[in-house]
Amino acid sequence: SRAMAKSKFEYVRCFETDDTCLRNCYIVVRLDGRNFHKFAEQHKFTKPNDNRALGLMTRSARSVMEELEDVVIAYGQSDEFSFVFKRSTTWFKRRASKLMTHVTSQFSSSYVFYWKEFFGEQPLLYPPGFDGRVVLYPSNRNLRDYLSWRQADCHINNLYNTVFWTLVQKGGLTTAQAEERLKRTLAAEKNEILFSEFSINYNTEALLHRKGTALIWEKTEETITKRMKLPNEEEEKDVNVTRSRKRVQAHHCDIIGETFWEEHPDILED
Ligand code: ATP
Ligand code: ATP
Ligand code: MG
Ligand code: MG
Ligand code: MG
Ligand code: MG
Repeated sequence: SRAMAKSKFEYVRCFETDDTCLRNCYIVVRLDGRNFHKFAEQHKFTKPNDNRALGLMTRSARSVMEELEDVVIAYGQSDEFSFVFKRSTTWFKRRASKLMTHVTSQFSSSYVFYWKEFFGEQPLLYPPGFDGRVVLYPSNRNLRDYLSWRQADCHINNLYNTVFWTLVQKGGLTTAQAEERLKRTLAAEKNEILFSEFSINYNTEALLHRKGTALIWEKTEETITKRMKLPNEEEEKDVNVTRSRKRVQAHHCDIIGETFWEEHPDILED
């Protein structure tokens, strides 16, 4: 490029503040849909869980992981997604605002770009927005507790929403009556309402809804057929070439206990 032209206006750059993230910490960017309670109503999301909307969230998160470097795990539920950058990332010199805005804008544009793949002919009525924030976690324990917190939130909300909408849709209650019925009930009581009144065992409800979605990179072996000329041969031939590729894989499982982390030891760094 051209030599940096310095002007007398250049000094304004000094007003920018340093937001470099502390070294060695995991950088988490969490985004959340703006006013999605209304967005869900206006776009006729099925209650309690619209699988098209969840699919679109996950598709958009996948696009973030594929376009941006160094995200080792992403976890999503409802209208939110968290992206974890590896602790040694030097992407954008670890500048918080750059990381956060790239994640959030890549996600938002993907949400609109892939809308049709999930909602078909149903139109997107207005441009949705997402907020973003950055949080740093200095230890593996802190990071795992963060992700556990989000999954516990998924569970608490989904249990509530499942009973609430069952009372409305199958029990004939109004939304106000269902809300009243559930006031101050404990988890065990909610499970009991589902089981004794509606023969629903909460533990056999869809894992996608109970556990949310964890996206991680996994190695896959891929065999492709290539036409090529081998050394010392005249003709081109079809040759099978196996190469290992990294792909984003979705998991709907418990990430609070040890099992998931033991099965995927590469996610966390020492
Ligand atoms: P804010 O702008 O403060 O985030 P919000 O209306 O988005 O406000 P949230 O607490 O983020 O509030 O809740 C998101 C809401 O979006 C849920 O309560 C639910 O009504 C709706 N929602 C999001 N995803 C789905 C889905 N897949 N299926 C059904 N409803 C959903
Ligand atoms: P970075 O990701 O670091 O911002 P960049 O490629 O976006 O990299 P910028 O310094 O932001 O670099 O420059 C934007 C570039 O986009 C311009 O140099 C130009 O090539 C192109 N560009 C943007 N808007 C226009 C436009 N309206 N017409 C033609 N070219 C454009
Ligand atoms: Mg929201
Ligand atoms: Mg999900
Ligand atoms: Mg939310
Ligand atoms: Mg640019």
